Amino acid sequence: MARIVMKFGGTSMAGTERIRRVANIVRKQAAGGNEVAVVVSAMAGETDRLVNFCREANPLYDPAEYDVVVASGEQVTSGLLALTLQALGCKARSWLGWQLPVRTIEAHAKARIEDIDSDAVLASMAAGEIAVIPGFQGVGGDGRVTTLGRGGSDTSAVAVAAAIGADRCDIYTDVDGVYTTDPRIVAKARKLKAVTYEEMLELASVGAKVLQTRSVGLAMKEGVRVQVLSSFIGDDAVPADDLPGTMIVSEEEMNDLVEKGEMERQHVTGIAHDKNEAKVILTRVPDKPGAVAHIFEPLAAASINVDMIIQNVGRDKGETDVTFTVPMADLARAQALLEDKRAEIGFNRIITDSKIAKISVVGVGMKSHAGVAATMFKALAERGINIQAISTSEIKVSVMIDEDETELAVRVLHTAYGLDASD
Ligand code: ADP
Ligand code: ASP
Ligand code: MG
Repeated sequence: MARIVMKFGGTSMAGTERIRRVANIVRKQAAGGNEVAVVVSAMAGETDRLVNFCREANPLYDPAEYDVVVASGEQVTSGLLALTLQALGCKARSWLGWQLPVRTIEAHAKARIEDIDSDAVLASMAAGEIAVIPGFQGVGGDGRVTTLGRGGSDTSAVAVAAAIGADRCDIYTDVDGVYTTDPRIVAKARKLKAVTYEEMLELASVGAKVLQTRSVGLAMKEGVRVQVLSSFIGDDAVPADDLPGTMIVSEEEMNDLVEKGEMERQHVTGIAHDKNEAKVILTRVPDKPGAVAHIFEPLAAASINVDMIIQNVGRDKGETDVTFTVPMADLARAQALLEDKRAEIGFNRIITDSKIAKISVVGVGMKSHAGVAATMFKALAERGINIQAISTSEIKVSVMIDEDETELAVRVLHTAYGLDASD
């Protein structure tokens, strides 16, 4: 008997028929004698719809009230799945975030799970019940509902798996695994049998939305075995225990797979894109010590993540332009905060541009292989794609480009690194 957490994303939960399909997959996993807890997302499109209501109500919305609104999507699907399981003859009940509770810390709208009280879920499973838990939601120190940031149900699932000591956390989605790049953009993307925690962490953090970044970090820290697989499967599909999806593995497990010839080592493992960042340019900032700190301190205090940063070479008058990116969702707040500090920072104008994209190539092979960045720049140049900014880490190179060129850039790079599947 195994203890398994099964997570189903928005597309898998979109409507009665799909929820019935999910209920069937869950029923089979439980019927195999396993203890099962299920974590669900809101129906596809629902969270976007709720976010839009908040924006319409108040563009500078209070994140605590935003949480009250957007957490409702998962409440609906968890109840519906419990009802559908009951209709199939299974014992099931839902457990909302505040009921367990899933305790969170830090800012509303991007809260972090501190701990989950697993007693209720364990007792429920021991009594032969399937526990259905809404992803994405928790409860803050102030007793108010919180949410974990977009895509947060993945993190809920991994956190539940860690809390109940699950043997595996299966993330069911609308693709059958992690690919070399988004298979919706590159038809020739290849499915990976396994990917290391480190690479998946980096891929997720630069936009491969198949897993939320924090879910991967948590799985790595807690040693949770995570598999990504499709919920769009026929009744005769192989059981998830046969690992038909992509396993997230440690470096050692990956080395074993490479030795056995089950995986190939590439310099670049995957390519990701992110259209959800916006560029901010502050013009004529004083070119003196402390100026940049004045810009970024208020943003940090408001939990706004700044990514790429470029400071131009100072002009004659001791002034410079500072360019950086922030998540699109935080752009309005960032702008308002910077306007507030205009006198202190001493800039002339704020220029923003949300029509940018970040394209990143990721691979542990980069640690020991030079030339990955050069290949990227050459391939983009050959297609006339202009690079506006560059950033690198040990296993990643990212460039900022015009958003309209995103798909072209991803395809060009996928080919340039030899990742295309052969026909
Ligand atoms: P869910 O609603 O199940 O959480 P998401 O939409 O959050 O699903 O994530 C799945 C999507 O991630 C896929 O439909 C695919 O378009 C996208 N994706 C981006 N990069 C990758 C990748 N490297 N491998 C697989 N899917 C990817
Ligand atoms: N429903 C939330 C979102 O769309 C959480 C999730 O699906 O993971 O971001
Ligand atoms: Mg998701």
